[in-house]
Amino acid sequence: MNETSVLEGVFDRFLKSARIFKDREILRHDHVPENLPHREDQIRFLGEIVAPVLKGLRCSNILIYGKTGTGKTAVSKYVLKKLNQKALGCASPVRFCYVNCRWVGTEYRVLSALCYALGVKVPFTGLALGEVFDRFRKGLDTQNGVFIVVLDEIDALVKTHGDTILYELTRVNETLNLGKTSIVGISNDLRFKDFLDPRVLSSLSEEETVFRPYDAAEIRDILLERAKSAFFAGVLSDSALSLCAALAAAEHGDARRALDFLRVAGELAEREGAEIITEEHIRRAETRIEHDRVVEALKNLPAHSKLVLLGVYLLVKANVARAITGEIYEIYCELCEQAGLTPLTQRRVSGLINELDVIGLLNALVVSMGRYGRTKKIRLGVPRSAVRSVFMEDERLGSLISYTPKCLVGISSTRR
Ligand code: ADP
Ligand code: MG
Repeated sequence: MNETSVLEGVFDRFLKSARIFKDREILRHDHVPENLPHREDQIRFLGEIVAPVLKGLRCSNILIYGKTGTGKTAVSKYVLKKLNQKALGCASPVRFCYVNCRWVGTEYRVLSALCYALGVKVPFTGLALGEVFDRFRKGLDTQNGVFIVVLDEIDALVKTHGDTILYELTRVNETLNLGKTSIVGISNDLRFKDFLDPRVLSSLSEEETVFRPYDAAEIRDILLERAKSAFFAGVLSDSALSLCAALAAAEHGDARRALDFLRVAGELAEREGAEIITEEHIRRAETRIEHDRVVEALKNLPAHSKLVLLGVYLLVKANVARAITGEIYEIYCELCEQAGLTPLTQRRVSGLINELDVIGLLNALVVSMGRYGRTKKIRLGVPRSAVRSVFMEDERLGSLISYTPKCLVGISSTRR
């Protein structure tokens, strides 16, 4: 068979196959459904806070926290959409601007997005931050009514750039004559408060709320609702739905993951011409998503974290089941030398190990050493093969993956 007829076959099979998706878009992360089960309390709470805006009054700033996939973005967008609709029928103009700080990336770009929403022009780059802020302030002051600023994933911005922009934003009302602004800050990191100056924290969290994770039954309801519009009737088997909910609930109740499982499982079923999405499709979807996620996380690590991880990889390869920080540091320093980088201090590397542990790439176990205190035993949190295949592709690390560290000879002979 030549390529054309192979392709013909693929297309024909697709056209003939049972139809799975009624509307795939419904399963996208950024789709905001009309119905958000199990978030009625949060919707009401946020609604009560922003309601004064309808009478032209400034509303309290609010800080929303919760782990990923707990519905923070969906609920905020939903409430603001409804507020906007309501405001059209009222005399008070309401304006709002939603910015995802992690996507936008820098303070400059966050401020330009806010300016843009006010119709104020700002060049892509080139102005001092203070100048952009001044334009924003002037823009605000030419308008009546309240401007609501939604800063989603604000933790990402503050961790890399500090909280200056939040400080300025929380104080801007003091200098305005006409305009008013309120801030909705959303964080995926529950420890976000620790990163804020106390003054910023107290103004930002005039109100605050935590979105707790969904349990399996709640995720099931959410999925069922979405599946009704995403799939044709009868396509999603009940057992697949339950499995999907259980898997997502086991992972801190993340509705986003659950939707990913459904979408990928649907695509697998569609591709093989199946009529029903089964448990097996969900399991295969899980494996695929997990793999993609690990690869993505590994690729995006900063250089020094990659070297730390590579150090652990080499230790594991030398049969050291669980390494201690000192050993990792020693290998890391050697790897830095090989890669032409200046090593960070052991303390900083210890911090990097913690971060890698949090995102699951490393797995640290605190072991009690009796009266000698406690120590951390560290191993890879992901398959060795994944580390190997990603780092092999890496320009700098490709050649180091088969490197034999000098210090390893001593370690492995005593620990094997
Ligand atoms: P977060 O912002 O907390 O990380 P999102 O609001 O982005 O979470 O939610 C993740 C995905 O799950 C989105 O596609 C969202 O529409 C969906 N979702 C979350 N909670 C619900 C809910 N209660 N009902 C329906 N869909 C939900
Ligand atoms: Mg979000």
